[in-house]
Amino acid sequence: MRLRNIPGSRDIIAASDFVIQDPEAYKGRWKTVFGKDHPIELEIGIGKGRFLMDLAQKHPERNYLGIEMYSSVLLRAIQKAEQRTAGLAAPLPVSAEERPKRPEGCNFRLLRFDATELPYLFEQGEIEKIYLNFSDPWPKDRHADRRLTSACFLKRYEQVLQPGHGIAFKTDNRDLFDFSLDQLKESGWELTFCSFDLHGTGNRSQAEKDGTGSDTGRIAEGMSAPGSGQPESDLIMTEYEEKFAAEGHPICMLEARIRGH
Ligand code: SAM
Repeated sequence: MRLRNIPGSRDIIAASDFVIQDPEAYKGRWKTVFGKDHPIELEIGIGKGRFLMDLAQKHPERNYLGIEMYSSVLLRAIQKAEQRTAGLAAPLPVSAEERPKRPEGCNFRLLRFDATELPYLFEQGEIEKIYLNFSDPWPKDRHADRRLTSACFLKRYEQVLQPGHGIAFKTDNRDLFDFSLDQLKESGWELTFCSFDLHGTGNRSQAEKDGTGSDTGRIAEGMSAPGSGQPESDLIMTEYEEKFAAEGHPICMLEARIRGH
């Protein structure tokens, strides 16, 4: 998701108290941001941010950070946060003079940041879980390292996650999902949940034609296929998920953790 540059977006981001303006300064002391010693979970590539905000609302006993690299997209998430705070029916226009402030006790914050630099933000063990939802597929081979589930990114996650913790990843893109399973195996992660059609929305006739869809996916050789249980994560729909599932695309989901703890 990359929106056209929106005039005024940088000013709104710079003035928003939903946004951490100087995130590297909090490395090693993220809990001070929230003033509560609750576990911190992270979503990378929040888009318009509904998933993060629904999750934060459902879990007041946890804190959440949402990372998004494009200002134009982060602006949409700020507008959503403001809309929810003020109980408005629609997001405020960019030009609004008075913008709602972050409510007391708000347990999420937003960051404009490129996840490639993740280890500059967190000490080892500061993050308890990472959510990756409908991440950009970067289909060209030469861009494979930019995929958020590539071995390069898994290494970055290992540098910030608590031992024994891991990621939850959802996508409608079967090639990206298969790539992710391979990368997890090569990186020695443990697959704890895997589904190739999480909501049963796969279009059966299409699935029969192309061999995808339904819960009959290929698991990277040597990894077990724990597809029958329930994921540990809350099944909260993202904006992309809602759209793709409604169109009959199977949604793939996996959960995996760093092995050996
Ligand atoms: N998660 C949302 C959803 O499911 O509705 C949005 C999905 S959108 C396809 C992917 C988002 O990830 C985009 O907003 C993109 O800007 C962001 N993104 C991609 N790579 C990123 C990176 N390295 N760091 C931070 N954000 C990234």
